[in-house]
Amino acid sequence: MPQIICSLFTKFLDIIFPPKCGFCGKINKDFICKKCENEIKYLKKDCIAKTNNVTYKYHLYAYKYENEIREKMLQFKFNDEPELAETFSKLIIKNEKICRFLETYDIIIPVPMHIKKQTIRGYNQADLIAKKIAKELHIEYAKDALIKIRKTKTQSSLNASQRKSNVKDAYDCKIKEKIKDKKVILFDDIYTTGSTVAECAKVLKQSGAKEISVFTFAKD
Ligand SMILES: [Zn+2]
Repeated sequence: MPQIICSLFTKFLDIIFPPKCGFCGKINKDFICKKCENEIKYLKKDCIAKTNNVTYKYHLYAYKYENEIREKMLQFKFNDEPELAETFSKLIIKNEKICRFLETYDIIIPVPMHIKKQTIRGYNQADLIAKKIAKELHIEYAKDALIKIRKTKTQSSLNASQRKSNVKDAYDCKIKEKIKDKKVILFDDIYTTGSTVAECAKVLKQSGAKEISVFTFAKD
């Protein structure tokens, strides 16, 4: 009975607030219309590459961080538009190559934000996307496996070596038993120099993860 109520409520919400394409704003049940999906096709990368990093094995990313993708991601991050997570996760779910790869892993963990920053923004953009992907692919999701234990400067304002020292020892793993001997996907929205994910992956490795790969929606 509660399930019926829940599904009726979802349908009711769809009527009041119909799902829209995150790019053009037209009503679309997929949160991305065919026209916009075609227009950003040139930025689609579908990349799954083995890395030289000592802690994580592969880096996957779906899009190049340029033009329309960059614009939408900045909007998602700074314009208080959490609903764009639906569009980004839908673009990932439609990507067969990336989905089949993700399904070979046990658990998805998002790169965390510092609690103060998250309270100001209202959401962690990596969490919103990763949660939807994990649900859709039936992969375990551990939102709070990693926490950010100190505030850092905004990475985009720093150069590569400053970025590395800025995030050093900024993360901790609180539920080690959950990731012990697991194949872990660490998710972040954008990859630039990789210092944030490298630092997070280091903590996951030290906490007993068997294998770690990094997945970002886009790569700069
Ligand atoms: Zn559209």
